[in-house]
Amino acid sequence: MSAMPEPVNNIANQIDQYHASKQGKPRGHMGVSLLGHHCDRWLWLNFRWAVVEDFDGRILRLFRRGHREEDMIIRDLRSIGIDVRGAQRSVSFGSHVSGSLDAIIEKGVPESPKKRHVAEFKTHSKKSFDDVVKNGVEKSKPMHYVQMQIYMHGTELQRALYFAICKDDDRIYTERVKYDKDVALKYIARGQRIAMSDRMPEPVSGDPSWYQCKFCPAHAFCHKAKPTKRVNCRTCAHTTAMPDSTWRCERHDADNIPEEFQHEGCDDHVLHPDLVPWVMTPSDDGHSVTWRIGDREVKNGTGGYKSREIISHPEVCGDPVVEAVKALFPDAEVTNAS
Ligand code: SF4
Ligand code: SF4
Repeated sequence: MSAMPEPVNNIANQIDQYHASKQGKPRGHMGVSLLGHHCDRWLWLNFRWAVVEDFDGRILRLFRRGHREEDMIIRDLRSIGIDVRGAQRSVSFGSHVSGSLDAIIEKGVPESPKKRHVAEFKTHSKKSFDDVVKNGVEKSKPMHYVQMQIYMHGTELQRALYFAICKDDDRIYTERVKYDKDVALKYIARGQRIAMSDRMPEPVSGDPSWYQCKFCPAHAFCHKAKPTKRVNCRTCAHTTAMPDSTWRCERHDADNIPEEFQHEGCDDHVLHPDLVPWVMTPSDDGHSVTWRIGDREVKNGTGGYKSREIISHPEVCGDPVVEAVKALFPDAEVTNAS
C-alpha cells in the first residue's frame, strides 16, 4: 500500500500561511544593510517599492529565528565579560540613507578590551558559515562588511565585531573589522545617489542567465519586460524623493507625503515610465499619460484608467467593449474580482 498522502491543510501549512499573511510593509528608507548589494537597479526598485519580495511563511519564520538569536548572542557575550548594549541605535546620513545597529560593545572584547565596537550578529547556513570562516567577512559577505563600515562611520567607532553563528551546528565565528572611511563614504554616497535618482539605474547584467540575476525577485521585471505589480506613491510618476528624506507629490503640490499614505497612494497615480514596458505620450496638463499597449491607446491618471486597473489587466484596458461599459458606468473598474 502506498503512503498516505500528506493533507494539504496540515499544521505546518496553516502556520506558514499565517505568517505569510502577516507580511510587513516595505521599509521606508534606503537601508544601510543593502548598500553593498551588487546591483544599483535592485536598490532603486526596492527603495521605490516597485518590486517587493513577498516571502513565504517558512522564510519569515527563519527571519524570526535569526532575530531571536540576537538575544542569545548578547547573553553569551555578557557571560564572558563583554559589556554589550543591545538596544538598537539608528544612524542616519541624509537623503533617505539610514540603518539600525544590532548593538554596541562598550568594552571587554578580548583582543582589545578597552575599545568600543560596533557589533553585528548574523546567523548562517552551513555553506555560508563555512565560506565566511574560510574567506573572512569582507570577501565572503561584502554586504555585511559594507554595513559595518557605515555603522562605524555613523557612530565614530574604529572597530566592529562580526559575530557569525551556524544554524546547523551552532559553531561560532568572530572577526574584528577595522574602520575604512573611504569604503563607508563611497557606499553612503551610492545609497544617496540611487535614492535621489528619478530614473531607474542600469541593470547589473542584460543577460537573463547571469548568476546575480537568476534568483533576483526582479528577474521577470528586468528580463521578461513585465510591468511593476505595485501601485503606491513611489511607483508614481508624480513623486520626487527629496534631499531632506521626504517625498513630494507634484500632482497635488504636496510636500512630505506621510509614509503610511505612500503605501496606498491615490487614484491620480500615473505609472512611472521606467516601471512599465510601454511607450508613453504625456498629456498637456501633466495630469495623465497615454500608454501604447499592443494596438490600443490607454489613458492613465486623472480622467483615465487607474494604475491598478492597468497593472491588473493591461490586455483589456482600452478595449472598445470596456470603454463602452465605462462610458455607461463611469465608476466601473477593471479588477481581478469575479
Ligand atoms: S534581475 Fe539583475 S539587473 Fe534586475 S534588479 Fe535583479 S540583479 Fe539587478
Ligand atoms: S499623485 Fe497620488 S499616488 Fe501619485 S505621488 Fe501624488 S499622492 Fe501619491
